[in-house]
Amino acid sequence: MTLDLPLLPDRTCGECVECCRFIPLDLPELAKPTGMLCGYCMEGAGCAVHAIRPQTCRTWFCVWRVVELSDDWRPDRSGIIVRPDGLTTGEITLYVVRETDFLRSDTFFDTLVSWREQGLSLALSVPGPVGTLPVRAVVTDYLTAALAGGDRPMFDLLLANVLISLARHAFEPDGIEPRFAVPGAPPVAL
Ligand code: SF4
Ligand code: SF4
Repeated sequence: MTLDLPLLPDRTCGECVECCRFIPLDLPELAKPTGMLCGYCMEGAGCAVHAIRPQTCRTWFCVWRVVELSDDWRPDRSGIIVRPDGLTTGEITLYVVRETDFLRSDTFFDTLVSWREQGLSLALSVPGPVGTLPVRAVVTDYLTAALAGGDRPMFDLLLANVLISLARHAFEPDGIEPRFAVPGAPPVAL
């Protein structure tokens, strides 16, 4: 799903390339399994075929690019891609691609408290091994009491429980075979 909210002015991806790694693509000209860095992506520098990249790449952005979240929410720093899916209908999915100290920060907790106060639903998602589909769970009810009560120790415990539980799932193969054939792009070695 793409996002139809305007991008924040003056905000760029910088060194972040997390969506080019953790969001699967299965297009005629570009297919990459979940967790595989796109063959056109330069680690820490971004897209090497920016001018001719597929339309999907032009329209998919994480929520950090459209909502006023602090710099430490940038996905390569926070380890969290805030997915656009569901945002316009009031559900926020936190795709935790890497566990970092940010998950235990005041910034993270305070933002989730604010989202709940606004009535937004919350979901957590984690990737599995490369080439498997992420798993996801709606955790609004599970976390609400800790968030509403400002109970950080309880929140930290519940969050850890969810992430452990998600990581234990049997991850299904995403069935995507890598294919890097963007017209006009240099060949990519597989
Ligand atoms: S995850 Fe967000 S900040 Fe990072 S490269 Fe993708 S759109 Fe940019
Ligand atoms: S073509 Fe460019 S923007 Fe699209 S996934 Fe690959 S590196 Fe990212």
